[in-house]
Amino acid sequence: MYTKLIINNEEIETSQYSSSLNPMDGSVVGNVSIATIENVDNAFSSAKQAFKTWKNTSAHERMYKLELVAGALLQKKNEIAALLCSEISKPMKDCIKEVERSAEYILFTAHTYRTIEGRLVDGDRMPGINHLQKTAIVTYEPLGVVLAISPFNYPINLAVTKIAPALATGNTVVFKPASAGAISAYLMMKIFSEIMPAGVVNFITGKSSEIGDYMLSHKEVDMIAFTGSTQIGRHIQELAKCPVYLELGGKDAALVLADADVAKAANEIVKGGFSYSAQRCTAVKRVVVEDSVADELIGNILTRVFQLKVGKAEEDADITALIDLKSMGYVMELINDAKNKGAELLCGGYSEGSVVYPTVLDHVTKEMRIYSEEPFGPVLPIIRVQNMEEALSTVNDSKYGLQSDVFTQDINKAMYLANNIEAGTVQINAKSDRGPDNFPFPGIKDSGMGNAGLKDALLSMMKTKVIVINL
Ligand code: NAP
Repeated sequence: MYTKLIINNEEIETSQYSSSLNPMDGSVVGNVSIATIENVDNAFSSAKQAFKTWKNTSAHERMYKLELVAGALLQKKNEIAALLCSEISKPMKDCIKEVERSAEYILFTAHTYRTIEGRLVDGDRMPGINHLQKTAIVTYEPLGVVLAISPFNYPINLAVTKIAPALATGNTVVFKPASAGAISAYLMMKIFSEIMPAGVVNFITGKSSEIGDYMLSHKEVDMIAFTGSTQIGRHIQELAKCPVYLELGGKDAALVLADADVAKAANEIVKGGFSYSAQRCTAVKRVVVEDSVADELIGNILTRVFQLKVGKAEEDADITALIDLKSMGYVMELINDAKNKGAELLCGGYSEGSVVYPTVLDHVTKEMRIYSEEPFGPVLPIIRVQNMEEALSTVNDSKYGLQSDVFTQDINKAMYLANNIEAGTVQINAKSDRGPDNFPFPGIKDSGMGNAGLKDALLSMMKTKVIVINL
């Protein structure tokens, strides 16, 4: 299959393509268009032009069209999921879930937008103004053209979480997916473009090294909504001349206190630490445990890790190939660094092709890179601490602040930790998770900027307009 660009609802062929490879066996899944600077300019001017009418299209009409997209996406669920599975080596059942969840997200976005209304504000709450002398009509307006950029690990879901709120609020979109996963994203964007008026959604693929910076600093961009690594996120902040929303990396810690239900904690940690080979921003990437229960916790963790199935995404294996050999190499580098500096390897620690076998490292210390770096692969470092205060300061000893998990049966300790952990979200007695999708999804420190989550995303893509009636 050859993908095309989608500009002004026309499918544009390019003269150059890059191959999208199946991470498991290196076979070619398809060929992805490489856009030129001219294509980028055309996409932005088409979005700018369409904005003039889309922003004035009734909210009812916009929501109706979004609902049509959700329905059409569900009809293509199996086709898109099969492509996702071979493009990014995600277990098939999770690919199906990703498409279903995305359709649900679109529907709920339309539903939520319908509940957002303007308001009247009476001026006489402040001194010196008489009743009805000054009244403000407060409404919300779209920003203009939203540049949406998604990462490889959720090509459908993390596109929809940007595109749906942008369109609901009356913005138009230029969407650039990660190169890995771009074919699935293309299928989804064909659906959008078949339903939306010309220019409302535009789809660009290509080499970030050639068009990336040009897109980020393009004069027609009114907002950038980005999910990806902290490194690229910070780069975007430097270049952007408009509001940016950033969902970045994470180093989520599972903090296990001595009084925790250890079996439950282990269960959650293994699910959180290894599903989709930990290629998730909210994967559990550190375990911080009180020494008195560490051996028991580790025993429980290892029992579950030994049950994980390593193999093909098509067969729903828990551990599949990482996205590419470079990522595998990086994860192995972190494992070897920890081993060389004295960590105890409890299982795994080796790779085959792009597959890294599930790895657990005990006695991890600050000097080891795995203590602070985000691996994006199936390796779980265990850090032993002596008490709750040491656990808290260890969890906070990170540049990231996406989520953290607290395992304890004492509600007072749970709330104390939740209030003092530096993270956008703290989960009590469960693994980190994005969702349910109507929850806000904030990241602090190097994990992001701005609030995601359904309603927050809608609000972030609008500006407030005030009209004052003076009588
Ligand atoms: P990445 O390397 O930062 O890439 C993200 C996106 O940015 C891709 O579409 C990439 O395109 C594009 N890009 C790269 N350089 C660019 C430039 N100069 N200008 C414009 N776009 C550019 O991230 P990834 O490897 O795909 O995803 C993994 C990372 O995302 C992890 O750090 C993970 O924690 C994070 N993540 C965060 C969340 C969250 O909600 N906080 C969710 C999921 C993932 P190309 O692929 O074509 O280079």
